[in-house]
Amino acid sequence: MSRSETHHLGRAPYACDPDQSRGRRFEEPAPSNRSEFQRDRDRIVHANAFRRLAYKTQVFVNHEGDWFRTRLTHSLEVAQIARVVARSLGLDEDLTEAIALAHDLGHTPFGHAGQDELNRCMKTLAPETNGFEHNLQSLRVVDELEERYPGFNGLNLCFETREGILKHCSLANARELGEIGQRFINRTQPSLEAQLANLADEIAYNNHDVDDGLRSGLITLRQLQEVPIFAQHFDAVAKGLPDLPEPRAIAETIRQMINTLIMDVTQTTLARLQQLQPKSVDDVRLAPVLVTFSETVRKQADELKAFLLQQLYRHYKVARMTGKARHIVKRLFEAFLDDPALLPPEYRCAGQAQQARAIADYIAGMTDRFAILEYRRVFKMDETF
Ligand code: MG
Repeated sequence: MSRSETHHLGRAPYACDPDQSRGRRFEEPAPSNRSEFQRDRDRIVHANAFRRLAYKTQVFVNHEGDWFRTRLTHSLEVAQIARVVARSLGLDEDLTEAIALAHDLGHTPFGHAGQDELNRCMKTLAPETNGFEHNLQSLRVVDELEERYPGFNGLNLCFETREGILKHCSLANARELGEIGQRFINRTQPSLEAQLANLADEIAYNNHDVDDGLRSGLITLRQLQEVPIFAQHFDAVAKGLPDLPEPRAIAETIRQMINTLIMDVTQTTLARLQQLQPKSVDDVRLAPVLVTFSETVRKQADELKAFLLQQLYRHYKVARMTGKARHIVKRLFEAFLDDPALLPPEYRCAGQAQQARAIADYIAGMTDRFAILEYRRVFKMDETF
């Protein structure tokens, strides 16, 4: 692909246009010095939940080491990858970035273990709720939980940003969401910006988990050489630069893997756009998924994912942390539901389902270290209050 092809001429007809947004839930005057999607991106960066991403983790718990990714650095990497592709495809970069930066705002402390346990607690102890879903929680953060504006709860983001943040949703919840949940019922697609942020998430975590996994010693180079996409790039680096010290060879391999994935998704998506010729965002919503890898690269990426699941996410040392994380979330949830007087007053409310939801909001908002501290405050006889 030539430079002129990858640096697009501006917004394509199938991109989201901030001047044609479906709007915000509460009407506001148009911004004077930036687009509506830039404003959304800026609101996300200033949100409390965004800052807390610095102390939340995915695989490694926050105190395990300063060099591992946090949800914040993960979100920045997702945004970087997504913006590069967005520009090549003629999409709205600001919207893509806004979705990428907000996509994990609803994540609980301790990564997937925290979310699974919170979901289990909600389903068993408050069955009248539809459980806990982190994607829906991200939407809840920007729609309800942030308290920063005089006239409304939440950040009052544009429909297109909210649509992108709600990546998955159960049918039961979709039915309660109105317009924003409609696509899960109709089985239509979100905008290309949303599709892209989703794939950029996968590119980012697959690659940084290889990096963090190697650095932590939980996975080894020898194991990774059994994974074709890694082996292929690592061998090419070793051949071209045989004297490169190992840490640099690993960094170079990961850099080249990210580049391969970015180029593949760009070219595959451009070909699909050529073929289907969507003329508007509405055409995109009715089309099949357009932002994808090629079949070959999809297979390679899946092999890498399967490897990480088996060798890293299910590593016994990770499982030990996961077990502790689940224990903390479970004990806190049960204690708060049993005796809401233990909660800060703003999280107490009438009605069992509402109370359970408020507890889920409280726990989901916690950073890893705050959850550990809160556990000590509630259950341990020591100096913490
Ligand atoms: Mg993510």
